[in-house]
Amino acid sequence: MAQAVSTPDALGLPGPDLASYDRWPAADVLAWGIERFHPKLALVTAFQAEGMVLLDMASRIQRDIRVVTIDTGRLPDETYELIDQVRGRYGIVVEVVFPDAAQVETMVERHGFNLFRHDPALRELCCHVRKVVPLDRILDRFDAWIAGLRRSQDELRSGIGKVAPDAKHAGLVKIAPIADWSREQVWNYIHEHKVPYNALYDRGYVSIGCAPCTRAVPPGLPERAGRWWWESDQAKECGLHHESRSQRLEQELAWLPK
Ligand code: SF4
Repeated sequence: MAQAVSTPDALGLPGPDLASYDRWPAADVLAWGIERFHPKLALVTAFQAEGMVLLDMASRIQRDIRVVTIDTGRLPDETYELIDQVRGRYGIVVEVVFPDAAQVETMVERHGFNLFRHDPALRELCCHVRKVVPLDRILDRFDAWIAGLRRSQDELRSGIGKVAPDAKHAGLVKIAPIADWSREQVWNYIHEHKVPYNALYDRGYVSIGCAPCTRAVPPGLPERAGRWWWESDQAKECGLHHESRSQRLEQELAWLPK
């Protein structure tokens, strides 16, 4: 259910001046967010390259930065390997949130395991059950969250601010410290600081999500071309940051256990 967006005032942010955060370097935005919100601040990450940059940067500021990930149940082995590597290297606890078991059972009984291949609305349903609902649940525990979004990843992300009221979760502040970074800047940071990264990047992957919905792409294609590649007109979004619900999705949601 969409919620009303909190105003900057209600969140104690400097209203029209929010754009001033956009001029701050990523580390300054992170330091501000940590100072203001930790420990009610979560770095929410799928351990893609952007998330690894933020994790590395944030852990230099706050060693016990809270890191949250969603285990959809369909992640590639390489992502699990990386998460375990990160736990050892940074000495952090990774808080893991899983989908609601009853919702997954109902969805799979009705539509099968690989429902996402059959209809865009069923793909949205799978992302809703395995990603959106778990994220909503865990964000209830926080006042602000950090995401590794970049404006150049996708048209839908081109207008994001570094600090803003979360348009999907009323009462939360959403922080995107590397909103203005290029992919090259991300990889420069990773190499310079020897940050661990998902092994799939070395096999041609550019954006990494669930195993059945992600593949390698030839150089030169848009960054998210390897996600849900069988869908031609759909936005390459899973609903975590942008969600538009079709009539069919609404009907399917009515079947789910609450
Ligand atoms: Fe389901 Fe694919 Fe979305 Fe993962 S990315 S939640 S497997 S549709």
